[in-house]
Amino acid sequence: MSMRVFCDFDGTISLKDTADEIFSRFAASEWEVVEAEWQSGRIGSAECMQRQIALIDASMPELDAVLDNMEIDPVFPAFARFCEAIGAPLTVISDGVDYFIRRILQRHHLDHLPIIANTLTVAGERSYVLGGLYTSIACAARAGVCKCRPVNLHNGVRIFVGDGRSDFCVAGAADLLFAKNSLAAHCVQRFIPFIPYQNFADVQSVLQGAMPEITGAAPARHVTV
Ligand SMILES: [Mg+2]
Ligand SMILES: [Zn+2]
Repeated sequence: MSMRVFCDFDGTISLKDTADEIFSRFAASEWEVVEAEWQSGRIGSAECMQRQIALIDASMPELDAVLDNMEIDPVFPAFARFCEAIGAPLTVISDGVDYFIRRILQRHHLDHLPIIANTLTVAGERSYVLGGLYTSIACAARAGVCKCRPVNLHNGVRIFVGDGRSDFCVAGAADLLFAKNSLAAHCVQRFIPFIPYQNFADVQSVLQGAMPEITGAAPARHVTV
């Protein structure tokens, strides 16, 4: 049975929300009005992000300068190598922006990882257009990248690591769900089983304990049920 690890990006791999960081520096203040419309459920995240991206007024080098200061979980590169070692390919899945994610991962030599995210197109010297490839009309998230779609397409064991609202629709689709922050609260409310975690060191140690035969680590103890 093939195993695949899907990781959310903002708040899970990166410590801060990348798009919010970009908008707060370069978008007209209207971006917060759009954000509030999404928070209240009036619009889906696809429309929200499309409108916010259109509000950016910045050159590519200006965007890069901010992206190059975004920090990620320091354990994540080691976790990516761990996934490779146990034969569980890792996919980054985000309702954020592919260019932002790739730029940040590149700095950590992780740009070989597959990324499923909204696509950024340069529309002018200082303007951009966002495209969504995984919108699902069947899902209430109305997201540019509806995570439940690509995850459901994986025919095998689905491990998911996430932290927030963009992960809600995928929570029930994962075989093994690692959750923190509002995703954990959502799971508690809906009785969706999950494993709490703080960072990728936690995720790795749980997976190591659950798969001693794959990772080569000796099991701490045998539990007989
Ligand atoms: Mg997130
Ligand atoms: Zn969905």
